[in-house]
Amino acid sequence: MMSIQVLKPKFHIDECLKGVRDCLEKGWTGMGYKTVEFEEEWKKYTGHPYAYYLNSNTAGLHLAVKILKMHNGWQDGDEIISSPITFVSTNHAILYENLHATFADVDEYLCLDPVDVEKKITDKTRAVIFVGYGGRVGQLDKVIDICKKHSLKLILDAAHMSGTRVNGVCPGTWDGVDVAVYSYQAVKNLPTGDSGMICFPDEESDRLVRQLAWLGINKDTYARSNKGTYAWKYDVDYVGYKYNGNAIMAAIALVQLKYLDEDNARRREIVKMYNEGFKNNKNIQIIPANHADECSYHLYELAVPDREALLDYLAKQDINCGVHYRDNTEYSMYWYANGTCPHAHAISQHLITIPLHMWLTDEDVRKVIKVVNEFLA
Ligand SMILES: *Cc1c(COP(=O)(O)O)cnc(C)c1O
Repeated sequence: MMSIQVLKPKFHIDECLKGVRDCLEKGWTGMGYKTVEFEEEWKKYTGHPYAYYLNSNTAGLHLAVKILKMHNGWQDGDEIISSPITFVSTNHAILYENLHATFADVDEYLCLDPVDVEKKITDKTRAVIFVGYGGRVGQLDKVIDICKKHSLKLILDAAHMSGTRVNGVCPGTWDGVDVAVYSYQAVKNLPTGDSGMICFPDEESDRLVRQLAWLGINKDTYARSNKGTYAWKYDVDYVGYKYNGNAIMAAIALVQLKYLDEDNARRREIVKMYNEGFKNNKNIQIIPANHADECSYHLYELAVPDREALLDYLAKQDINCGVHYRDNTEYSMYWYANGTCPHAHAISQHLITIPLHMWLTDEDVRKVIKVVNEFLA
């Protein structure tokens, strides 16, 4: 019997291979061609006016912080408020730019708690990074209001939010979101190998991110006189990075995007079964989602009394589960903030991520429910 995985991507293999073959036949596997097509499709799908395809969300978060720092004159040591319940990329992005990560506590959705965000603001605070945990939008609207009130920038780590909407609108496009960054990493809702997208609301930042993700190369000055033998000529006016996405990954992304809404609808169906199956178990705390009917549900997690024992028990029944995430202030790099987010700290000891992906059958879901309830009876 095959074991049940916690996260497992499902690819439309023949269509993906056809897209990859297109790239190989054309002899175009790098930046451009399918990367441009995917940017256009992503803009149509989300409503973002600008989108630039990158090799990861991590690279995108770094450039988001960097560009906001450049444009707003932030100094080394200035502070960004972030979440302790996230993949560590979110917080490293702050440190890449010599800024200080301050942590605010999370709410019942495991997203930033606006009340604690406001308490953590100092005269050095410049921005907030909001993580749409598990695809949830949480209290993003309130956090945006706080950012406006205190003249802070808002970066949305939308790694889990591909396909999340609120009343039909992609939250990354809301007024007050200064940049949104998506992930198409191997197990995310729109899986590729590794890649991501950065979406600024303005043309100038979009132009700059394209330049910084491509070594700082500036073709503009010469593009205007792009005649004859000067086509090769460009200037380099920043120390940029090699962060661009490539056509092979974009070929896969273009195919997977066509199925994203269908996939997310199936995720919500599975979540309904889980919620129903666990709602009467007093030993289980379900992590809720607001706007649940439009949530991308990247993860499904429970808070349980003895997480390690449940993980062991499930593994013995061939059900692999995981933990998303360990409180980041427990890591050596962020230990200085340990104790600053009591709710996040407490709940992260009890979180278990149970299987949620496109390979699960209803029978698998019923088995997971039965085994979990058995153990926690
Ligand atoms: C996956 C993830 C990232 C990093 O995405 P990559 O595309 O792998 O760089 C960042 N933040 C969160 C919350 C994630 O889950």
